[in-house]
Formats: sequence, C-alpha cells, structure tokens
Amino acid sequence: MSDQASDPGLRARQVDALTDEEAQAELAALAAEIAHHDERYHRLDAPEISDADYDSLVRRNRAIEARFPELVRDDSPSRRVGAETAEGFSKLRHGVPMLSLDNAFADADFLEFCASIRRFLRLEATETLAFMGEPKIDGLSINLTYEDGIFVRGATRGDGTEGEDVTRNLLTLADLPRQLTAPFPARIEIRGEVFMDKADFLQFRAQQERAAEERDERRARGEKVGPAVTIPANPRNAAAGSLRQLDPAITAQRPLKLFAYAMGDASEQPAETHEGWLQRLRDWGFTVNPVSELLADEEAALGFQKRMAEQRAGLSYDIDGVVYKLNRLDWQRRLGFVGRAPRWAIAWKFPAEQATTVLLGIDIQVGRTGALTPRAVMQPVSVGGVMVSHASLHNEDEIARKDVRIGDTVILQRAGDVIPQILGVVTEKRPEDAQPFAFPDRCPACGSHAVRPPGEVVKRCTGGLVCPAQTVERLIHFARRNAMDIEGLGAENVQKLFDEGLVKSPADIFRLARHADTMRSWEGWGARSKKDAKKVANLLAAIEARRSVPFERFIFALGIRRIGEANAKLLARHYHSFPAWRAKMLAATTIGSEAREELGSIQGIGPAIATELAEFFVEPRNLAALDDLAGEVTPQETVVVAAEGNPFAGKTVVFTGSLQTMSRDEAEAQAERLGAKVTKSVSKKTDFVIVGADAGSKATKAAELGLRVLTEAEWRGMAGLG
Ligand SMILES: [Zn+2]
Repeated sequence: MSDQASDPGLRARQVDALTDEEAQAELAALAAEIAHHDERYHRLDAPEISDADYDSLVRRNRAIEARFPELVRDDSPSRRVGAETAEGFSKLRHGVPMLSLDNAFADADFLEFCASIRRFLRLEATETLAFMGEPKIDGLSINLTYEDGIFVRGATRGDGTEGEDVTRNLLTLADLPRQLTAPFPARIEIRGEVFMDKADFLQFRAQQERAAEERDERRARGEKVGPAVTIPANPRNAAAGSLRQLDPAITAQRPLKLFAYAMGDASEQPAETHEGWLQRLRDWGFTVNPVSELLADEEAALGFQKRMAEQRAGLSYDIDGVVYKLNRLDWQRRLGFVGRAPRWAIAWKFPAEQATTVLLGIDIQVGRTGALTPRAVMQPVSVGGVMVSHASLHNEDEIARKDVRIGDTVILQRAGDVIPQILGVVTEKRPEDAQPFAFPDRCPACGSHAVRPPGEVVKRCTGGLVCPAQTVERLIHFARRNAMDIEGLGAENVQKLFDEGLVKSPADIFRLARHADTMRSWEGWGARSKKDAKKVANLLAAIEARRSVPFERFIFALGIRRIGEANAKLLARHYHSFPAWRAKMLAATTIGSEAREELGSIQGIGPAIATELAEFFVEPRNLAALDDLAGEVTPQETVVVAAEGNPFAGKTVVFTGSLQTMSRDEAEAQAERLGAKVTKSVSKKTDFVIVGADAGSKATKAAELGLRVLTEAEWRGMAGLG
C-alpha cells in the first residue's frame, strides 16, 4: 500500500459534508489506493479487495470529483489509462535541450521582446527584424532523431533534458517519415508537435465516454472489465494519452497528426534562415503547418497574432496562441538562451475565452445505457469566435453545487478551445423568481422512473426494454452470442432494422418473418446481388431457432442492470422456470416482502442487486415488453442435473458455522451441484440447515422452526462426499 494511507474517519464521511481540504486529501488518498489496486489487478493479477469494494472506491472518487471538479487531480483514476505509467517507458536524453518559451500577452510585451533583441545584437534602427510566425498548437512536443536519414528514436519533451522513449508509438503515425528524402545531415534532431484535430477529438471523446459507460455497466453486472477508460478533457490530453500508451497498437488506432517546426542537435547546419529550415523539413517529407508565415518586420508580426485570433475558430486543430521565431539563424545563434528560454523566440498566448449569457433551460439527455445527463440550453453567444448554445452540466450534483437556475446569467468558458463549460452563475443578475432546478424523476425519452443508487452520481432510466434511447444497445445485447445468440443479428443489422422501424423491442425480432419482402428489398439484403439472396432467409431461420432458449440465457438477454451471466445463472437455478420467476419478481417489488428477502438471500445476489431487479419489475412498461417477448419465446426450465435419489435436489439449504473439511464456498458449490438452492437466511421454507462449529443464531432459529439440522459429517454422507 502506498504511504498515502487513507484516514478512516475521513473515509466514512459523506461526500456532501466534505470541506475543500478534506476533499483534496481524500482524492489524493483515493488516487493512490486505486492505483495500487489497479496494479494488483491488472499487472499482478492478484487483487487484494473484492470488485464491490474496488467499485465503491471508484464511486467515491467520482462523487467527490463531481462535487469538486476543480480539485480533479492530474493522476486521477478517472483520467488514467489503466496501468499506464511513466515507468513503462525508458528515458531518452535530448541532444540539445527542448526549450520553453517566454510569453507575451499584449502588443507592449511583443515590442519589448523585439527591443531586447535589437539591444542584444546592437542593431541599427534601420535594420528590420523578420520573423516566422507559426500557430501554437496545443499538443505534445516530441523530439525525433534521424541518423543517416533513418528515423532511429523519438522522445517526449519530458523535463526538457530527457523525455520518454516513445519510438514504437511514433512509428504508428502516418505523418512521420521513416526515412528522409536526400540530401540530409548525417545526424539531426527534429522537433514537432503531435496533436489531434478538433473533429477527431470530439469523435474520440464521444467514443471514450461510451466505452467508459459500457465498462461501468459490465462491472455493475459483475463481469471482469479491463483498465479504466480515460475521457480526455481537451485535444492536448487526448494526444498525450494516445502517444504515451504502453501498447503501440492502441496508439495506432488513434487519429494523431504531426507538424514539424524546429531543430535540435545536428551534425551540420541545414539552412541559413528559419524559413529555409522549414523548407528543408518539407523536402525531407514532413508536414509543416501551412499557416506558418514569413513576417517581414515587427508591424507585420503584430498583425499575424490578430489574424490568427480571428482565424482560430475556423482551424481544424486547436491553437492557444502563436509563436514568433527570429528568421535569421545566425542571429538566433548569437542570441542564445536565458535559462531554458531562447532570446530569439516568444509565444503570444490568446486570452482565455469567456462570455456570459442567459440560461434558457436544462435538457435531460438519455445515453445509450440509460444515464440521464443534463445539458444547459443557452441564448447563443460567441465564445472565442464560435457560437455556443449548449453545455453539459454533467449530473444532478453538479447543478446543485453550482446552483445553476433557469433564467440565470452564466459565465461560459471553452475548455481547450473546444468544449464549452459553465464556470458559474452571476448571482447579482438572478431573476427574483428563479427556482433551484428540480432534477426529473422520470426518463424524458420514455417516461419510465429513474433511479440513482446510493453512492452513485448518475441517475438512470429503468425502462431498459422500452426506452427508445436505449433500444438499439439493448437489442444488440439481446441478440449477442452469450445471450440469445441470434446469428446474423449484429450491431449493424440491429441498427438497420431499428432505423427502418421494424424492430423496436425484443419481441419484434420474432415477428420479422412477416416483413421478409420488405427486408429483401434493401440494398445488401438481397435487392441486387445473388450473393445476398439468402441473407434474409438465413436470419429468419436463426431467429426461429431461438424460440426456445435456456432460461438463464433468456434472463441475461434482458440486459437488466447488474444481471450478468453469472447472476442470470443463479436466478435460473433458484427459480427454475420463467412463470415462477416472473411471479416472485413481481412479489419482490414490495420492500420487506418474503419474496424480496428470498431474492436478496440467494448466495451471490444480495440486497443491492435485488433492488436493481425489483426496479426493473416495478416499471409496468418493462413488464409489458417482457410478457410480449414471452409470447414469442419459451425459456426452457432449468433442470438442475443431479443424481437420482439425491436428497438435496430442489431443496433449500443453509450453511452456518465454520466447516472443518471444506470451505464454505466449496460446500455451497457442492450443494448447488446436487441441485440445492443455497440461501443465507433460515426460514420455514428451508429444508436443511447444515451446522458447523460455532454455529450461532441460525442454528437456534432452525431448532425453533423444527427444521432438519445436519452435522458436517451427516451432510458429507448424504451428499456422497464420503
Ligand atoms: Zn427511458
């Protein structure tokens, strides 16, 4: 465990009650703990805590971050790419240090920069200073080394002196020349920026958000999941996270681009001016930012910054300023450096883009897995040259924390120049009748009730089978191999059938035969080519073959939250048939009912999952869709394979006290193998109570109820375990 041990008092504290300092301390402790458990889980494959305990750490971290977004750490588990660490890369030393630039923020700063060059070089007033102006791209700086024209290694900037060896990752970039076009110096370092386009970034971010949500769903269902999914905050994060992957195959899938712009160490001087140098880079096969421009004098240079500020929004990539480099390389050499900063270059940053506008309303959007996400609808306003009318409000807590009310004047900022966010409210401008926002209790897409489990920040629609926002995702799950296993009904075809209006619910799949002619008229479904002629017939046959399926697959296919394959199997074994299960689940919607207790006491289910299941059955539309489906599909009864005359088949069994000859887990598994239902609590429905050493209240209760009590030896004997 890390030295950043958590404070148990703090850990027990409600997120709502944390002060800023406490939240900061907790986030630090959680980051360290989760990193430790990730390492145990992913790299050592030896977890120390249960998935549920791990989940509660992650949930707490997420809840604190939702309440204190400004405290989100750079090493936050919600940002980290699984087991990726800087330690995974070896270090590379740069031939010449990678520089950082001084900054200008106004005309006066830039003019003083020019004046200092003139003083240093003792230039006449008539001498003009020509600069190369380049947009300053918000990406990741890298250093590329070429020997005899061959790319041999590449490193991140790191601390400027040494960076991480990302050679293999860089080799996946299409923009990186493996070999320079001759002539070239025997050895040269080339500097550039790896970045992601705005459009690619938005698409990638949406993809990551979806992956994170699906991962949460899978984890909630008790399935083993891979490392945490990072949701990048801006294109720079996305580029850095993508390049710094331990597996270059992942980098290869990311849409990264590269502009080259500077020189490091070189065996000979390849040009006399910076402009000439950029031309050499183009000749060798690099992409140089086409917006780069030679600026004849200081006045032209001032204009470049203003022009770029106007063009900024229209560029396909994000920039946060412009960079000026003195064009004459002989002057650059004479000017040299102060510390890490060259005297011959400067960055001119754009001011942060903010604006105020009026919040007209709050929309609730429903994600593909049922998450309700609030979105601000605002009077359109220009922020840094882009019209903005929407911004995510993330979740219920975020709205409450910022106390954002409809009618409020809000301060908007575009983070990383791309995604708008609401920084806060101008409370002096609040209308007198503005009310705190009431987060809806129903899904706006389908009207089903929405729930938010304790400790989670996301509220979810419970109408899994009926919600149009979730339909496609549910149908894909329904048909997948380990669920209903309908051959030929993958994501693409499900989407097509949904878009054409033929399939809206699982039951509709089984009524497709009547639309066979329509389907055959579609492009790629038999309309044109002979090759596709059998597609519809094959699909319909595959569907017919699934009119009867094992009960556990049927349950799993419903896609109920937290009911993965393992839990579906437990339910099927416990309730045996669909009608019995349906009846018990309806009864279990009443909290405290016998059926609810029974459900919660099934070994491996527990009260939290019982609640999720009950929520599904509480929603009448789910039940209607389920019954509709049951009219088309007959789940097979679960017959538990057991030896003839075995006394435990179909019986309800409780183990209590510690057993001497086997673990509790093994004993329960043995009992289940013999066809018994294993439950945790003793009731009058219990058939056998097997009592080990130190048996407590359960043994007493069994005696009171007059149940059949077995010793460990008796149990072994009757179970045929010798
Ligand atoms: Zn819904």
